[in-house]
Amino acid sequence: MENPIVMDELEGELKAMPQDDVMVAIKRLEAKVDSLEKGLRKIISIQSVTQTTLNTIESAVKDEWRVGVSEPKKPKMSCTGCKGNHEVFECPNLPTGERIMKCIGAGICINCHLHHGGDCRRKGQCAKCNGKHKTCYHI
Ligand SMILES: [Zn+2]
Ligand SMILES: [Zn+2]
Ligand SMILES: [Zn+2]
Repeated sequence: MENPIVMDELEGELKAMPQDDVMVAIKRLEAKVDSLEKGLRKIISIQSVTQTTLNTIESAVKDEWRVGVSEPKKPKMSCTGCKGNHEVFECPNLPTGERIMKCIGAGICINCHLHHGGDCRRKGQCAKCNGKHKTCYHI
């Protein structure tokens, strides 16, 4: 011991302490260590769960990626009117009025063919009248 005087003082203090109090202090210390250990175990177990979850997500993403590479998504362009390779609102076999109704019914803007609410922010697309509709919808 580098400082025997301090140790002697500490020993003296411990000896002066009633034995029961010392035991209580030790029990408290043990409880603290125990809870600390439990906390650590909990952290470790959570980490392992997280790692497992991450692995699952990773493999799921990889699977999806592989499927995406081997089977590229085909654009769904099947006309419900004539089964042609175009959307029904672009069908050359349907009258303009009907196509406009199909387009609006599908929630698609007749000016830009996008799904958006409210008025179209683009300028009129019609080459015939500059109206807010594509030329194919011009009546
Ligand atoms: Zn068609
Ligand atoms: Zn639009
Ligand atoms: Zn027009």
